[in-house]
Amino acid sequence: MIPYGAIVSSYLVAAVLFILSLGGLSTQKTARRGNLYGIIGMALAIAATTMLILGKVQFPEGLAENFSGVLLNDSTTSTVFAVVIGLGALIGAILAARVGMTSMPELVAILHSFVGLAAVLVGISTYMGSGIQVAVGGEMVHNIEIYLDVFIGSITFTGSVLAFLKLRGSVSGKPLTLPGRHLLNLVLVGTCIYLSFGFVTADGHTAVQSLLWMTLIAGVIGFHMVAAIGGADMPVVVSMLNSYSGWAAAAAGFMLKNDLLIVTGALVGSSGAILSYIMCRAMNRSFISVILGGFGTDGGGGGGSTRSQDQGEVTTFDVEEAVEAMRDASDIIIIPGYGMAVAQAQHSLSQVVDFLKDKGKKVRFGIHPVAGRLPGHMNVLLAEANVDYDLVLEMDEINADFPDTDLVLVIGANDIVNPDALEDPNSPIAGMPVLEVWKSELVVVMKRSMGTGYAGVQNPLFFKDNTRMLFGDAKVVVDQLLTGLRSD
Ligand code: NDP
Repeated sequence: MIPYGAIVSSYLVAAVLFILSLGGLSTQKTARRGNLYGIIGMALAIAATTMLILGKVQFPEGLAENFSGVLLNDSTTSTVFAVVIGLGALIGAILAARVGMTSMPELVAILHSFVGLAAVLVGISTYMGSGIQVAVGGEMVHNIEIYLDVFIGSITFTGSVLAFLKLRGSVSGKPLTLPGRHLLNLVLVGTCIYLSFGFVTADGHTAVQSLLWMTLIAGVIGFHMVAAIGGADMPVVVSMLNSYSGWAAAAAGFMLKNDLLIVTGALVGSSGAILSYIMCRAMNRSFISVILGGFGTDGGGGGGSTRSQDQGEVTTFDVEEAVEAMRDASDIIIIPGYGMAVAQAQHSLSQVVDFLKDKGKKVRFGIHPVAGRLPGHMNVLLAEANVDYDLVLEMDEINADFPDTDLVLVIGANDIVNPDALEDPNSPIAGMPVLEVWKSELVVVMKRSMGTGYAGVQNPLFFKDNTRMLFGDAKVVVDQLLTGLRSD
C-alpha cells in the first residue's frame, strides 16, 4: 500500500514538470528537454492515478469515502481498465509513429475532440452515477462544475471533429456565413444558460433532460463556430480548440476533485489561448473576430484555381541558372513553406546551406509564424535536419533585410510571401504580415506548378520582374542544386 501523501506529492511533482516542459518548449534549444519533462510528468501522473483507482493507496482517516466512486475494487473492472489503457496507449503510439508532419494539425484536432468527448461522458456519468462524494451544501457548486464541464466539452468535441474534417479537406474550408449568425450564437448560449437553472434547481429526470439538451445545443455551438471560420484562418482554430480542450479538462478537474487535472487543464487552456493570440497577431486578425467567424475563403491544401491569365507571364529558371545565381550571390535568405514539408527537402537543404557557408556566403532562413500547417512546423523540420539555430530568424527579425539581400530562395512557400496580403484589401489574406521577399535583388521560387497555396489565392510574386520560377518537387530540385553546386 502506498501512502496517500505519496500520490499528492507525485501530482505536485508532475504539475511542476508540466510547467518546466512548457518553459522548455518555448525555445528550440531546450525543446527536447521540455518534451522529456512532459513525458516524465505524464508517466508519473498516470502511474499515481492508476495506483489510486486500483485501491493500492492507504488513505488517511475519513478520506477514503471521497474516492469511493472512482475506486475499482474487483478484478474484472481492473482488468477492463488495464486493457483500455493498454489499447489506448498502443493506438496512440501507432498513430504518432505513422503520422506525417503535414498531417499533424489533423491529428491534433482529433485528439482535442477526444478530450471534449471524455469531458462530456465523464460529466454525464458523474452526475448520473454520483461517483464523487460532495460535502453537504456543496451540491449546487458541484452541479455547476458538471454543467460547465459538459458545456465546454461538447463545444470542443464537435468543433474539433469539424476542424479535423476541414484540415483533411473532407469538408470545404469555405466559411459558413449564415444570416444573423451572431444572433443565432447568442440565442444558443442564452438557451444553455436558461437550461442551467433547470439543471441546478431540479432533480432526477428533469435535471438529466436539461443536461442532455444543453449537451446537444453546445455541440451545435461548437460546430457553428468552427464552420464560420474560413480556410486561411484555420491556424487560429487549432490553437483555440487546444485552449478549449484545456478548459474542459480543468472543469473536469474541479468536478472530480483532482488537483492535477485542474493545474494541467489550466496550463493547456492558458497556453492555447496565448498561442491563439500570437497566431492572431501574426495574421493581423482580432481574436474576437476570428472566433465569431466569417473570415477567409475556401482553402484546404494547395491546388485550386489560378488567376495567372490576369497577371502576365512568369519567367522560369532551370537548375543550372539557379546554381549560377547561388554562386554569384553573397547574401542569401531561404524561405521554407508547406511544400518543403511535403517534399521532405529539409535534409538536402541543410547540406546546400553547409556548402554555401563553406564558400563564405551569408545564408539565413526566414520563418513566417504560420508557415506550413502547424505552429513551429518549419522550426521543427529544420531542427530535425540539424540546421544551426542561429541561422533561423523569425519574420520580424528578417523582414527589414530583404532590400540588402542578393538572392531569396522560396521553397514550397506561397501564401506567406504573397504581396497581395499588403497590397490588395479584397484579398482573403489582406492585412496578414508576409515576408517581403520581392524587395530583394532576385527571388527564385521552387514549387511544382502555378497551383495556389492554402488560402486558395494566386500570388503576384510569381509574375514580378525579379522572380524566377524553378518548377519541380522541392526535394528533387534541391538535390539537383546540391549536385550542381558540388560539380565545380
Ligand atoms: P501554402 O499552402 O501557401 O503553399 C505551399 C505551396 O507548396 C503550394 O503552393 C504548393 O504549390 C507547394 N508544394 C506542395 N507540395 C510541393 C512539393 N512536393 N514540392 C514543391 N512545392 C510543393 O504554404 P505556406 O507555408 O506558404 O503558408 C501556410 C498556409 O497554411 C497559410 O495560408 C496558413 O494560414 C495556412 N495554415 C497554417 C497553419 C499553421 O499553423 N502554420 C495551420 C493551417 C493552415 P504546387 O502545388 O505548385 O507545388
